[in-house]
Amino acid sequence: MNRTMQISAVAGAGLVTSILTAAGNTLIHWFTGFNLFSLSFFVIVPAGALLCGFAAAYGYYFAAKFFHIRPNKVLLFQMIVIAAITQFLIYWLEYQTLVVEGIHVADFMPFGQYMDISLTTQHLKFGRGAHIDGGAVGEGGYWLAALDFLGFLVGGGFVYFTLLQEPTCEPCNKYLKPLVKKKDSFGDQESFAEYYDNEFAHPIGSAEFARHVGTEYSAGKAEKGTINMETRVLECPDCGSQAVSETIQVFNGRDWKEIGELRRFVEMPKGTDVRRAYSGLE
Ligand SMILES: [Zn+2]
Repeated sequence: MNRTMQISAVAGAGLVTSILTAAGNTLIHWFTGFNLFSLSFFVIVPAGALLCGFAAAYGYYFAAKFFHIRPNKVLLFQMIVIAAITQFLIYWLEYQTLVVEGIHVADFMPFGQYMDISLTTQHLKFGRGAHIDGGAVGEGGYWLAALDFLGFLVGGGFVYFTLLQEPTCEPCNKYLKPLVKKKDSFGDQESFAEYYDNEFAHPIGSAEFARHVGTEYSAGKAEKGTINMETRVLECPDCGSQAVSETIQVFNGRDWKEIGELRRFVEMPKGTDVRRAYSGLE
């Protein structure tokens, strides 16, 4: 498959999950009377649209990872167009499935008129938005629909930025594949620093290095001050270069907090394979 076809496949996968999201929203609405897409908090926070945007964008995520397509302006443009189509589809499906007092609304009212009434009366008759108290919102309904669209885009944008942050091999333009995942926990800062600061002190590939990184640390039950470290060995599927990616969390007695400054990504020298070392097999 050439690159243009792969990019189209990513858009296609996004389109499929978007249509599924629209259909799912309609089914939930049909069976329960609850319209997830229109759910908002404090009238203006489009929480439901955000969630739908996130679900709809899942197809882009998986296809982009599968075909090694980095997020770019073309993808962003496609995501915005498909988001607009999806929102339109959600309204259209709502229109097609709406029955009021035994009458199928689509049979006697054109879509445009339905939309206008549906948005400007903010759906006292059609069961939308119990959060708006009484009176019709009028023209404001269009602004609320625009907010829903923004919410939908932000949901998709979250997926876009997740893709943007996935580690890649620059020269090959490929997403790195995780090979080994190692979890360590340290009871205090000293033992953590002893490991973390000296991790790459010995030559990578040497026996000392393997002994250092191959040891698994366990602090037992988490207490205040316990430090967890997750190490992943990543590899480029094309050239085989490896990298070590690490995230660190500290327990404050109630929950875990990531220490962003300690997060690191270290490229391994060309030709070294650290998989066995991190697995404790060397
Ligand atoms: Zn590579």
